[in-house]
Amino acid sequence: MVMNREEKTHMRKYTNVTIVGGGFGGVKAALEISKNRRNRVTLISDKDYFQYYPALFSTATGHDSRESFVPLAEIFRDRPNVRIIRDTISSIDIAAHELKGKNLYRYKTAILALGSVTTYFGIKGLNTYAYGIKSQQEIKKLQAHLWEEMSDGSDDEKHYVIIGAGPTGVELAGSLGAYVRQLRKHFGITKKRVSINLIEAAPRVLPRCTEQTSNEALKRLRKLGVHVELNKKVEKQTATQLIVNGRPLPTQTVIWTSGVANAPFFAKNAKQFTLNERGKVVVDATMKAAKDVYVIGDNAATPYAGLAQTALHDAIFVSRILRDGATSSYKPVLPATVVPIGDNWAVFEWKSIRFGGLAGGVMRRLADLVGYHDVLPIGWAMKAWRAQGIKRLRVVEDRRVATGYTATADRSSIRG
Ligand SMILES: Cc1cc2nc3c(=O)[nH]c(=O)nc-3n(C[C@H](O)[C@H](O)[C@H](O)COP(=O)(O)OP(=O)(O)OC[C@H]3O[C@@H](n4cnc5c(N)ncnc54)[C@H](O)[C@@H]3O)c2cc1C
Repeated sequence: MVMNREEKTHMRKYTNVTIVGGGFGGVKAALEISKNRRNRVTLISDKDYFQYYPALFSTATGHDSRESFVPLAEIFRDRPNVRIIRDTISSIDIAAHELKGKNLYRYKTAILALGSVTTYFGIKGLNTYAYGIKSQQEIKKLQAHLWEEMSDGSDDEKHYVIIGAGPTGVELAGSLGAYVRQLRKHFGITKKRVSINLIEAAPRVLPRCTEQTSNEALKRLRKLGVHVELNKKVEKQTATQLIVNGRPLPTQTVIWTSGVANAPFFAKNAKQFTLNERGKVVVDATMKAAKDVYVIGDNAATPYAGLAQTALHDAIFVSRILRDGATSSYKPVLPATVVPIGDNWAVFEWKSIRFGGLAGGVMRRLADLVGYHDVLPIGWAMKAWRAQGIKRLRVVEDRRVATGYTATADRSSIRG
């Protein structure tokens, strides 16, 4: 994109941008563009909070929910030039420069960052019976279920099955066992046996990492008591069983962590964009998908789309064009992988650097604090971490309110 001096000066003076999606890409772009106080940003999102995906597994296993959900008003509290609107955008008219949700929005320049949705790859029963941890609602449902299971007074064996040994499945498997053990202790349950199975179709856990990292993660999971099953294909789920490679596995709790697909908005508005074979939006070297429309993060057909770090990188790139008149071409950057497995332990991998253990755990905390410090304000993250001493009690109490459970046994605290 070649711009003359006058055009660049004009852009630096004033930009009016409408961003759809209050996630990693959208929030970061709004923060960057609004650094110039003369710029105006309208941020439209279907939720009034930012969802910090890397901590969802932690919130699902009893940690403070502030780790995962940050009100957009908190992030933009000192940005009067950012207007936040809650709406679900269903269509775009590129020729008319209009976005449509409950209301109609005219835009000058739009950035679309709508993220991904869950897909079950057509496996029967998962949609009805499987739990998930990809949203606040899914996490609440899973926690209510775990609470009810633990407080039902029976001594039945409990089999928890996690499907998918990508980062989310591995993180969850590493922390679910400890959480369930704490719930058992809390309820004074000694007999009920608990098993955690992690099922993966690929021949190793963390299939996108190197073999050494996969092996190290596998060793760590086994040490934590997780039963890992590789090369296993999930075929169907019923209310009491999961059919894996033709064999029934008894379970009341299946957690699906695999399967993401591009936001359905793009398929619905396919005539306005060019989509690749995976339904992602083809963008040019400036991340433009159509006239005055940029598409970033999970939605864009770029090499490392599907990671928060890529969404942030894209947001910074587009913001430099819109805020500063930058003219460089997009260059994908390989993000580091840090996967926590149990307390204070993680595997780290970036190019030829890889390690696991406590150092990986420290790396992960640093990534939260430094890498994501503006989308996850430090003060907010610290509050969440400080609250962790009482977090599990709070989860239990939330569930008591939700289920009407009133036994006095659950008044003692459970500590992390
Ligand atoms: C469980 C889980 C754990 C993850 N952990 C990591 C990790 O540790 N590290 C990492 O790098 N990546 C991780 N990822 C991937 C990472 O979260 C995504 O790549 C990142 O969120 C993409 O950013 P985005 O801005 O494209 O989309 P999102 O962050 O998903 O933001 C999209 C936003 O748009 C809103 N929205 C959607 N549709 C509409 C609509 N029609 N109208 C208005 N608003 C809408 C959504 O509610 C959301 O707020 C994880 C993903 C999951 C599911």
